[in-house]
Amino acid sequence: MTLVELQSHSTHSDGELAPAGVVAEAAKAGVTTLALSDHDSVAGVPEALEAGRELGVGIVPAVEMSCVHAYAEDLHICGYWVDLERIEPACERAQQERRARAAEIVENLRGFGFDLTLDDAIREAGGADSIGRPHIAKAAGATGDLGPFFEEYLVPGAKAFVPRRWPDAEQAIGLIREAGGVAVIAHPYWDISAPEEVDDLIRSLGADGIETFYPTHTKEQTAHLLDLCAELDLIATASSDYHGPTHKTFARFGAYETYGLGEPQVPPRP
Ligand code: AMP
Ligand code: MN
Repeated sequence: MTLVELQSHSTHSDGELAPAGVVAEAAKAGVTTLALSDHDSVAGVPEALEAGRELGVGIVPAVEMSCVHAYAEDLHICGYWVDLERIEPACERAQQERRARAAEIVENLRGFGFDLTLDDAIREAGGADSIGRPHIAKAAGATGDLGPFFEEYLVPGAKAFVPRRWPDAEQAIGLIREAGGVAVIAHPYWDISAPEEVDDLIRSLGADGIETFYPTHTKEQTAHLLDLCAELDLIATASSDYHGPTHKTFARFGAYETYGLGEPQVPPRP
């Protein structure tokens, strides 16, 4: 039996467990190949590699770069087999951009009467390298399901939203490739709902693969992405986007369906 999980998050971004903890949970769940893919950070990868060696889980070094695109204010591109040193400057710049954006969102929230500072949000991020909107939501007092707070304040078009400005999707793919990595468009139907837009996005970006099997992808959406992979010769990857045992949405491995349509692939090391 194989269980492929090519996206997961640790405390280096918005996950709940340290990298070794993520790998331990993956081993318990029978994961055979795991990518630790923190948002704009590869700082947890060495610890994951070490834990993978100890626990017999194959680890693919990875990063999940956040970027912007005309169809999605927040699009994610996973970079697999990236050289950790070569991707580091891109991660650092992205982390700086995140802090600048967080400061603007905090100011907007203050304007709506929330009593928080950027330092509160940074504290909420704890040891994370990448501060994100979930940390800001918690610093503003949101608890449990952050969905309602996001909907009112933090999603595109909402009251306190500030768009990400760098990188765009083409740049993110370029950064991953320059670092020797394979670029895979993460969970397209999570960020975009219109099939025509997903279709156009994938045809126009020229990435190496699509995260096809994903917990929120329906059978129809999965079939569409598999058709695109076949037509465009792209790798079809899979993940449950594990964020930790008490995460509201992504709390377990093996949570995606293949619907009997195909099997996930692991990008070969370039
Ligand atoms: P950021 O990295 O600051 O752009 O924030 C992205 C993260 O916010 C995602 O990885 C999700 O964890 C979270 N997020 C995005 N949209 C929502 C939503 N509608 N409800 C709850 N969490 C969300
Ligand atoms: Mn993602």
